[in-house]
Amino acid sequence: MDSKKVVILGTAHGVNTPGKCSPDKKFREYKFSREVIAALKPKLEALGLTVYIDITKDEVPRPPVAELSQRCRIVNNICSKHGTKNCVYVSIHVNAAGSGGVWRTARGFAVYVARQCSEASRRLAKSLCDTAIAMELKGNRSIPKEHYWQANFYVIKNTRCPAVLTENLFQDNHEDVELLMSAEGKAKIVELHLKCIKAYCGV
Ligand SMILES: [Zn+2]
Repeated sequence: MDSKKVVILGTAHGVNTPGKCSPDKKFREYKFSREVIAALKPKLEALGLTVYIDITKDEVPRPPVAELSQRCRIVNNICSKHGTKNCVYVSIHVNAAGSGGVWRTARGFAVYVARQCSEASRRLAKSLCDTAIAMELKGNRSIPKEHYWQANFYVIKNTRCPAVLTENLFQDNHEDVELLMSAEGKAKIVELHLKCIKAYCGV
């Protein structure tokens, strides 16, 4: 029996994190991530899953290393409580192609796992990528042959359970920001995570 029943959702950054917004500053990553999670959590709970959020507050500890280590401590404590193999961590972000407050051309969904991650992490990541393609969220970039990206981002490398980090379109691409700021776009991102976490947990 598959017993992966505890979902830990990771918010992105904080209101006190510099940058992490669209060039016109109308879109902010910390806010979008928390809105997606607020919509997603009750839908997952309705499926019978236990759901946690790593940091719910808008403000996060500074500097970033304090924030990121706190997130990992929270996730790993939940793993100790519920059993690592029953937990999965999904950190919800929005990509950026550059800095300096300039609109850029790259757009679309991406999902990351840590380089030495578990098969379970890879399975969830691939399903997120494939579902994003099916939902026409792929954008204009080529997809790696594994159907996920690999990078040792702190929160996916230093958490014990299967972990993925989603980059939900680009906050410095005009088309992507327009979609993310629409009710339809946000609902699509919620739906993508809901579908894939549901399938992964076998509920
Ligand atoms: Zn981010």
